[in-house]
Amino acid sequence: MAMHDRKLNIILFGPPAAGKGTQAKTLVENHGLVQLSTGDMLRAAVASGSELGERVKQIMDRGDLVSDDIVIALIEDRIESSPDAAGFIYDGFPRTVPQAEALDAALTKRDMGIDSVIRLKVDDAALMERIKTRFAEQGRKDDNPDSFKVRLDNYNEQTAPLLPYYAAQGKLAEVDGMRAIEDVSAQIADVLDMVTNAAAC
Ligand code: AMP
Repeated sequence: MAMHDRKLNIILFGPPAAGKGTQAKTLVENHGLVQLSTGDMLRAAVASGSELGERVKQIMDRGDLVSDDIVIALIEDRIESSPDAAGFIYDGFPRTVPQAEALDAALTKRDMGIDSVIRLKVDDAALMERIKTRFAEQGRKDDNPDSFKVRLDNYNEQTAPLLPYYAAQGKLAEVDGMRAIEDVSAQIADVLDMVTNAAAC
């Protein structure tokens, strides 16, 4: 085992297009954490044409949130099926207060807890610019300007209220998400060092 026996549980937090997915992949490579992206799981369900995919496709295309029950079940399944993971990096989950409470309960049940919530701070104008490029390059339906506006509104209304929830628990760390990708990764690595050192004490 590493310095700490407990599995790490890190939430990457921020608005759509803040860089959570990109940074999560670096954490998977450098720290052996398992990335749990509810967006990726749901897109895979849509691509496979499963019953779940059929249920969520339209909701996702217009930029709305799928129901808490669905994403909570997806996350619990993945935690359960990854017993050997060094820890988990949550990307795009939780997005509502009930999701955060369900995650806390699921982790407590398994003798774990959230170690840190790393907020990537990016201003709205930069997000709009990034999304234009991503839409042109990848053509993701929900990156079109109308759906992206809905996603941003949902973030501000339903997800941003999680910031005081985690701040009250002393778990919130902020990094400057406007910097170059490698600089953001370095800031996140510093937070992880602090968290793992604290866990080792
Ligand atoms: P993402 O790739 O994280 O931006 O997610 C893409 C879309 O999947 C979102 O706009 C939602 O429709 C859906 N989704 C992903 N994660 C969640 C979540 N935690 N709660 C509700 N809906 C989600």
